[in-house]
Order: sequence, then structure tokens, then C-alpha cells
Amino acid sequence: MIDTIDEELEKKEILRAYRRLRRSATPFIKDDEEKKLIKKAFNVASEAHKDMRRKSGEPYIFHPIAVAQIAVQEIGLGPTAIAAALLHDVVEDTDWTLEDIEREFGSSIARIVDGVTKIASSTQGALSGVSQQAENFRRMLLTLSDDVRVILLKLADRLHNMRTLESMDRRKQLRTASETIFIYAPLAHRLGLYKIKTELEDLYLKYTQKDIYEEISEKLDKNKRQRNKYINEFIRPLNETLEKHHFKARIFGRVKSVHSIWTKMQKQNIPFEKVFDLFAIRIVLDEFPEEEKSACWKVYSLVTDYYHPNPERLRDWISTPRANGYESLHTTVMGPEGKWVEVQIRTKRMDEIAEKGYAAHWKYKEHHKPSKRSGGSRKMRKGQESGLDSWLRNIRELREKHEGESAMEFINDFRANFFQEEVFAFTPKGDLKKLPVGATALDFAFEIHSEVGHHCLGTKVNQKLVPFDYKLHNGDQIEVLTSKQSQPNADWLNFVITPKAQSYIKRFLRHERREVIIRGKEMLRQQFKELSIEYNDTTLNELRIFLNFRGLSELYYNIGEDYISKSQFRKFLEWKRKKEQTQKPGNQTRTNEANFNPKVDTLVIGEDSGFKYTLAKCCNPIPGNSVFGFITINDGVKIHRTDCPNAANLMANHGYRIIKAQWKSRKNLMFQVELEIIGNDRIGLVRDVTDIISSNMRVNIGGINVGLTDQGIFAGSIKLFVRDQSHLDTLLDKLQKIEGVESITQVRHPDTH
Ligand code: MN
Repeated sequence: MIDTIDEELEKKEILRAYRRLRRSATPFIKDDEEKKLIKKAFNVASEAHKDMRRKSGEPYIFHPIAVAQIAVQEIGLGPTAIAAALLHDVVEDTDWTLEDIEREFGSSIARIVDGVTKIASSTQGALSGVSQQAENFRRMLLTLSDDVRVILLKLADRLHNMRTLESMDRRKQLRTASETIFIYAPLAHRLGLYKIKTELEDLYLKYTQKDIYEEISEKLDKNKRQRNKYINEFIRPLNETLEKHHFKARIFGRVKSVHSIWTKMQKQNIPFEKVFDLFAIRIVLDEFPEEEKSACWKVYSLVTDYYHPNPERLRDWISTPRANGYESLHTTVMGPEGKWVEVQIRTKRMDEIAEKGYAAHWKYKEHHKPSKRSGGSRKMRKGQESGLDSWLRNIRELREKHEGESAMEFINDFRANFFQEEVFAFTPKGDLKKLPVGATALDFAFEIHSEVGHHCLGTKVNQKLVPFDYKLHNGDQIEVLTSKQSQPNADWLNFVITPKAQSYIKRFLRHERREVIIRGKEMLRQQFKELSIEYNDTTLNELRIFLNFRGLSELYYNIGEDYISKSQFRKFLEWKRKKEQTQKPGNQTRTNEANFNPKVDTLVIGEDSGFKYTLAKCCNPIPGNSVFGFITINDGVKIHRTDCPNAANLMANHGYRIIKAQWKSRKNLMFQVELEIIGNDRIGLVRDVTDIISSNMRVNIGGINVGLTDQGIFAGSIKLFVRDQSHLDTLLDKLQKIEGVESITQVRHPDTH
């Protein structure tokens, strides 16, 4: 029960939060219309959420207000996005429908709200885990290429949820935090939202490794006074000299984030005390007497008049901005007491982009009153403004490449491709191309145009011929030599890493392969006719097994490519004849009758059951499986499953030693199988699993081995005894239904015969 006084207080606080939002939004609002829009969104949202509270107990409306506040203040989004942020949970959590939103606020806001709603948090569904996260992420990227504001609001939403994670239970904390570090922090980084990325990472550490987080924070706190003293001493002469040269600048020390210090400690295996660059000095130019690039270099020259620079540590992100739009000049200089200190030089405009992100500033400045910039207008370079556009284009290409594949494959590829820095290379004419780190000369050819890639004959870097898989270095100038005759082959897939090149080559090969297969089929029909072999499913499969191909299309393909010689066909014919003979009864070598083991005589081998046999370890056959026997030299008959990984090899190379085998009904013998279970860790999962195995199914457990990964994933292997395949199938079925279980597979050991 909440009494009226509390309610009054709450109302006041809600209004206060709203007024703060409005104040922050003022610079972005151009007319009364937009003012009304935000007001209306606030009214609708607070009415719709009025009976809802967050886990922390506070009224729900605080959350959308906070998300809107982050959107405007920390990302720099305008009125449309602010309204959408206020409404972002209305469709999901209240009676309002998307149609209502569209009617009241128009289609653009409705589309954004819809996008944000569709990216459900994986912490909400019953089915959770890496694959669910991947699916969510894929869905998120589907919307990303439509309207970047969806992702930006989702990031704002996630940031506020991370800030208020304290009130969630432990399990939800861990899951939300791991999802954040896996997806949202890298995404924020890629979109240039440096501050948000840093805060997300720190919050992740705070909720996953509290002791480490606190230890580092405390240590940072402890040497604060000493650090500040040093920073002041370092800055003083710089302030003076900059003023003398008519620069108006803010110079300050920036402390590294807890998470990045922790990463460094781990990477270099050093204690906190040994991390030398706990801070950097940043010079932000508010007013400067010349064009901004030369202004930054002028400041560089002034700084290095005082402090000696380390020539190996100069980074010019102004001439060539980072893929996420980051611009800055970095140098490391020798400061007082012989300490290396990093100095970052940038203008106010560059600083804003660095902190708030490229996407927000260049793509969605909607009605943004440009902040007063001094020092003249900025020149746009080629490729500069399209950075985000080309990123989005790449995502679309990746999506197409993975059409129909699992979300997990997609996300792995995505992370490998898009969460890394890029290399810059030039065409002979001097056009700049950005490619992911690790991209090759052949990738570069495809980046110019798929036709150029297709007909690529060779590549020259800085005038010298290089192999296709030459890895690009920053600043390389690449010339692509082409020829009409040249075309992709399967090897090329080993030389490229960009989705664009990969999908083009794959598409080409697939098309080509289809034609070869059709040709191969026709050739095979001809060949069989010549050898008087009947052309039917049985003979085709026999040939496939003999030549050791996985599928018929592979067989056709190899024939179409003329990889199968006439003599191989003749050998096949011999093998086939021999095989037909060995399968006749009475033609087998019998093993010693004395070795006959009555305990396991329920397998019929050949035509009777007088053989000694053992079950192959590679596939662990159990009653009910389709099996065959293999006559070993010293060990009697070994029974393999027909789907055993070694089966094709045995049949192809030792066909005459294969003997038919079949199960007869069994009495009460049990067989050991090993299962691997993967799922989401939750309390009671192991108990649920063992419950079903031991009490529900009355199966004996031979051994259990459970591990927990740091992503909150449960992985275990269980050895147990089952009667036969159908017994095992029923058990698998039941286990699969346990909440949190992602996959169950029977473990096989393909290396042992
Ligand atoms: Mn929300």
C-alpha cells in the first residue's frame, strides 16, 4: 500500500525528471510542434504505465524518461527519438497497440517503437542462452539497416537497465551482464558511442566480478591525489603556451576505465601497480586561429616543444579517421619524473563525435542546432560521411550470405567481421578503401567491384606483385590486374575474409557446381552402361561407398570434373563382384567355437549367431541400431553402426571383410551411452536432469561430469545405461523438455576403432 503523501512525492519527482529531460532537449527542438510531440509522448506513456512499478519499487515511468534522457543527453538524438524513447515500452507492456501509436504519433515513431519492441531481451523468454542471444542479435541487425535510431534507443534502454541492475536477482544480473558484454558494448563501440561503451563494460565487470571491480576502483581512488598533482604539474606549462598562441582549450586528465585497466592487467599479466598509463591527457580545442587539422598539428608541435615525444607512438586519426568516425591526434611524450604520458589532441567537434558517436552526429542530426564552431568550416573528404552507410551495406551483405543458416553462425561471422578495426588501402588513383583487419589483396579487388574481383589475375602492392592472400597493411597502394579469362575457383575462398568476396565466390562456385553435377550424372549413366552395371539407387550408393564420398552429388561432381579414372571404375566392378560372393552363406571364415560367448549371443551375424564379436568403441552400437560386422585379424567380428564415421572407409577399402549383422530381441542387458548436455545454468537444472534419468526413467547413471562456463552456460556429460535405442530416444525426448536445456547429443569417439 502506498499512501497519498508518497504518491504526491512520486508525482513531483516524475515531473522533475520530465522537466530535466525537456531542458536537455531544448537545443534540439525547433518549434512548438516538436515541443508538443514530446509532451504528448510523456503524457501517453505516464498514463499507460501508471499502475506499473519496476523491480526496484519505483514507478515504471522513470525508466522511459531515463532512456529518453540518455538518448538526448548522451547520444544527441532529437525529438522523434525522444518521443519514441518515452513510448518504447508502451506496446510491449500496456494495452496500447502499435496501431494506436501510429495513429497518435505517426509512422516514423511507430516504426522505431516497433523495432525496439521486437528486439526482446533474452532475459525475458523462457528459452534463453547463447543461441537465443544470437537470434535476438540477428533480429536487431535486421532493424539496424532500416533505422539506426532503433539500435541507439536499444543501447540507451540497455544502459539504463544496466545502471539499475542492482534490484534484479543474481541469475538475471549475470545473464543481462553477459549479453551486454557480448553484444551491446561492442556495438556501442562500433557506433562510436565511446562513453556508453565504457560504462557498459564497467557495469559488466561490477556485476560479474564484483571483488575485482571494487579492488581496482579503490586503488584508483587511493592514488587520485597523487595523480591529480602530477596531472596539474604536467598541464601548467601547456596552458600557458597555448594561451600565448591564441588557442582556447580545455586540458585535463582522463582516467582509464576500470574494465580497460582490468583487461590490460590480464593481457600483460601484471598487477595494478604496473599499469603505467592509468590516465591520458586530453586537449580539447574550443577556439583556434586556423583550420582544425592544422590547428591540431600546431598544438602537437607546441606540446612536443615541452615534452619529448616517443616517435613510435604517434597516431593520426584525423587524416584517416577510425572506422567508427573517431578523430584525434595521439602522441606519447616523456613527462616529469621520466613517465610516458599519452596526449590526445582534438577539437571540440571531434571530441563530441568521439564521446557521443558518429551515428548520432552525422546521420541523425534532425533539427540539431549546430553548436558554434570556430576555425572555419570542415572539409568533407571522400568516404568520410559514408562510413556508416558502408557499414550498414556490409551488414546487409552478411545477412544475405547467411540466409537460412543458424543465428549462431551469423553472429560469429558478424563479430569477426564488424567488431574490429579496419585497414586502409588505396587504389592506384588514390581512392581510399576501408577493409577489416586481415583482409587480403583479393578482398581489395572485390571491394573495388565484384567484376574486378571475378576477373582478378594478379595484384600488385606498391608496384610489386604479391600473392592473392597478401594481407593488407595500412597505406598500401594496390593495383589489380584483370583478364577476361580469369574466374574464381574454390581455392579463392581461402584467400578472402570479407563477406562481400566470400558470398560472391560461393555464389559463383555453387552455380558452376550445379552444371558440373548435371554433366557428371550423364557421364556416370554412360559409364555404367559401358560396364553393364545397372543404373539404380543400390548401385549408385555402392559406388559412392566404394569411392568414399559423403553424398551422391559429390559423386556426380567428381565424375563431372573427370576426377574418377576408368581404372577406378574397373576396380569398383571387381569389388562389387567379391562383395556379392562374400554375402553368400557358408562362405565365411568361422572363428573358434570355444570363444563363443553366450552372454552376448543376441546378435545375428551373417546367417547365424556363432561368432565371437565385440562392439566397436567408435560408435557404441546398441540394440535397435542398424549395424554391420567387420572381420578383424585377431579380434573376431567388430560390430559398427552403419552410420559410424568409420563405416564408409571400412566398406570402401575392406569391402570383402564386411559381414551382415542384425539384432535379435534382447532380454535385460544394458548398454552404456554417454550424453553431452548443454544448457543455461540455473539452480536445480542438474537435479531436474538426474531426476528424470534415475527416478522417472529408472536408468542407472554411470558417471556425471558438470562444468560451468563464465557465460553462465552449463555443460555436462553423463554416462548411463540404457536397454536399447528406443529406450534412449524416450529418455532424450524427456531431457530435451527440461527448461534451460539447449541441446543433448550422444557422444561418439570417432578416433578409436
Ligand atoms: Mn525498456
